[in-house]
Amino acid sequence: MFVSPKTLDNNPLNSLLSSSGSARDEDEFSTEAFDQSVMGTYGRFPIALESGQGCQVWDTKGQAYLDFVAGIATCTLGHAHPVMVEAVTHQIQKLHHVSNLYYIPEQGALAQWLTAHSCADRAFFCNSGAEANEGAIKLARKYAHTKLGIQNPYIITANASFHGRTLATITATGQPKYQKNFEPLVSGFHYVPFNDIEALKAAIATLDADQRQVAAILLEPLQGEGGVKPGNQEYFQQVRRICDEKGILLILDEVQVGVGRTGRWWGYESLGIEPDIFTLAKGLGGGIPIGALLCKSFCNVFQPGDHASTFGGNPLACGVALSVCQTLEENDILANVQARGEQLRSGLSKLAQRYPHLIDHVRGWGLINGLVLKADLELTSVDVVKTAMADGLLLVPAGPKVVRFVPPLIVNAEEINQALQIVEQVLAKC
Ligand SMILES: *Cc1c(COP(=O)(O)O)cnc(C)c1O
Repeated sequence: MFVSPKTLDNNPLNSLLSSSGSARDEDEFSTEAFDQSVMGTYGRFPIALESGQGCQVWDTKGQAYLDFVAGIATCTLGHAHPVMVEAVTHQIQKLHHVSNLYYIPEQGALAQWLTAHSCADRAFFCNSGAEANEGAIKLARKYAHTKLGIQNPYIITANASFHGRTLATITATGQPKYQKNFEPLVSGFHYVPFNDIEALKAAIATLDADQRQVAAILLEPLQGEGGVKPGNQEYFQQVRRICDEKGILLILDEVQVGVGRTGRWWGYESLGIEPDIFTLAKGLGGGIPIGALLCKSFCNVFQPGDHASTFGGNPLACGVALSVCQTLEENDILANVQARGEQLRSGLSKLAQRYPHLIDHVRGWGLINGLVLKADLELTSVDVVKTAMADGLLLVPAGPKVVRFVPPLIVNAEEINQALQIVEQVLAKC
């Protein structure tokens, strides 16, 4: 590690940092020492991961796991992919960070790739999904004020959505548990049930009648955190029509499903519509932090000084993200996502038939899939995830009743079969 041994002598993290030796000590990592210095914002599973290769990761005790979490739909090329190693190394040796006071060629190249491969005309870069959504909210509000003359613009979002953890994005998130104790929230948001067109029409009418004009509708194409719930095509097409009629902006949060996760580049392609604005983050950099806000020309209303980010769009993040996108494209990895996704869903559906008392159904697109547990059981998604982890497979809950499968997009047929075998083992134990 980079800390000299001397400085560690009286440090409670000593045990935590001494893992670089070849002889393995079972006690080398201490969760207690970790918890004494890191804020307790996460409920963590009691393993510490320290290395990875492809779709496998190893913990500090040398235990191997098949990684069907991928940093939550983030490590699209898996771990230690040669393209990423090369891209990071190349960029850090050349130039890793400069200010947006200057032109950054890698940023321009990534923006060109994204706009050439999507319905968007312009990109702004930041560092995370929450930040990208925050930017989308600001863009929609400025558009409403300056182009539509709306004084008190409202943004409609969906129940069970997830848009991030900043104040504006927890407000946009239609789940009270993320908002509790953080009031006062940001004003100007209104919630509707997902996939329910009549509820949306009623909400727009109510807000209009009350001088709270709707500037934008913000939706996930498929609700990830909310339980891997795919958007309904007909619903989204009607939402698009309403937006066109009323001059409302349609913003899609593609943070979890964008950049190939669904077997297509963008989640909106599965819905047969185009958004006016969309956001990206998780998979875009393959695990190197980056977020993006994209829009069509007509709503490109930001001017110098309106929005900014110190790290946003730096040469390292953009250089790596461009390499990730080009690698997905050149190796036709979207075809792999479609084939492996079908293989996984068909395997899980067979298990659903074999364990009908445990599993309600299976749903998802490409390589974002959910195993939905029976509602009336005591069994929770966390129970399944813990048992799978003990058997060497990493999975992630999406709410109390849905087990989410989001492996690297390069996952192969054998690894899908291994995962299915472990899931079968786990279900047999439940
Ligand atoms: C993860 C996620 C976010 C938040 O992204 P961060 O990078 O954690 O800020 C926003 N929207 C969706 C749909 C997500 O899945």
